[in-house]
Amino acid sequence: MLTSVKDKKIELLPQVPKENQKLCDICEGVGWLQDDRGYIELCRNCSNGMIECCPHCGKPYSKRYYHHCDNEECQRIERFEREKRYQEQEKQRFEKAIKIGYNDADEDKTGMLYIEGYGNDGYIADLDEFFECHYDRNQENLEVYGEPLERPEYVWATSCSKIYLNADSILEQATDDLHEDARDRIVDEDELQRFLDKWCKKQTGTETYYPDYRYAILIPWDRY
Ligand SMILES: [Zn+2]
Ligand SMILES: [Zn+2]
Repeated sequence: MLTSVKDKKIELLPQVPKENQKLCDICEGVGWLQDDRGYIELCRNCSNGMIECCPHCGKPYSKRYYHHCDNEECQRIERFEREKRYQEQEKQRFEKAIKIGYNDADEDKTGMLYIEGYGNDGYIADLDEFFECHYDRNQENLEVYGEPLERPEYVWATSCSKIYLNADSILEQATDDLHEDARDRIVDEDELQRFLDKWCKKQTGTETYYPDYRYAILIPWDRY
């Protein structure tokens, strides 16, 4: 809880730096500076007297609230660690997932498929597109690194959301400024919901897919 400091005499003490932090040189770790008239104001050089530093080279970040080291070597380490974290997370997801053969997967799981690095931001329409994409990526890998691209064992299933309008929330909003019993006087809410459902069904192109990490779809490489 924050309380007023009016008329209080306060001793301004510097912060104690934690790991990858150092005290701000301007305010000496206090976070406050005094102007010519004696008023104090926040130091604009730091956050609360602290400067955040890069965990790899130890140098302060070049800008406040900017957690990115300009040093290329640090950036390389960051990318490597990010990739390692991703791989680890992906491995755990796969271990937990239900594994389904491609031909045994229901249509509602394979409206789109998802695999990082392939297709459009990881989304691919079907197995053919996956194989085409793998073919291209494999060629590229051969040219650049002289070795074939590792064959992924699986892709992720997706779930799909599309436009839905809720009669209840529309009526809540529509009666908000009316007299207090107005909402209760509404009849045939079901009829409105049925109409909204029918109308939404007519809309095409709002389908939005998300990876569904509960299901891993195994790739039938014999069809490649
Ligand atoms: Zn400062
Ligand atoms: Zn650095």
